[in-house]
Amino acid sequence: MAGDTQLDLEADRAFMHLALDQAQNAWLLGEVPVGAVIVRAGQVIATGYNRPIGEHDPTAHAEIVALRQAAHLLGNYRLPDCTLYVTLEPCAMCAMALLHARFARVVFGAHDPKTGAAGSVVDLFADPRLNHHCSITAGVEQTACSNLLQEFFRERRRAQKSQQDSAHEACLSGIEVTELDIDPPLI
Ligand SMILES: [Zn+2]
Repeated sequence: MAGDTQLDLEADRAFMHLALDQAQNAWLLGEVPVGAVIVRAGQVIATGYNRPIGEHDPTAHAEIVALRQAAHLLGNYRLPDCTLYVTLEPCAMCAMALLHARFARVVFGAHDPKTGAAGSVVDLFADPRLNHHCSITAGVEQTACSNLLQEFFRERRRAQKSQQDSAHEACLSGIEVTELDIDPPLI
């Protein structure tokens, strides 16, 4: 029914906004702003945001953080009746983790042309060679999700430039500047 579809879309948007709130948490910690929530029977049961730098953990993507929380909460490594909402298309690592957990549905916001594994680079969720498939809804609140990422990278470039400018000025005025000061680590 058209009404149900409309309702589903509204629910998807509302949950994606909660994922966007999670992404903001990542930004506040200087991490690339990606956020996720896991929903079961219409209720959020777990949240996560990207934090590989702070955690010293290359696997600490928003999806994995939320997935671990949900599995612990439910006491089960399979989550077949859950939906994951994430602001950016999952990478291959997260896609496989979601398939291992037997997720029924994944909803994402912005496409990731560089590492997206839900159709942009590969489509692991629909690969007939894999034994589990997962329904994908792409592009929910896409503009808000990609704007957040673009704004983050724009601000970071600005900050790097002003740091370089002040380093240059400091050099001119004879103040010693270490390499670390002018070259913050990239993600
Ligand atoms: Zn990932």
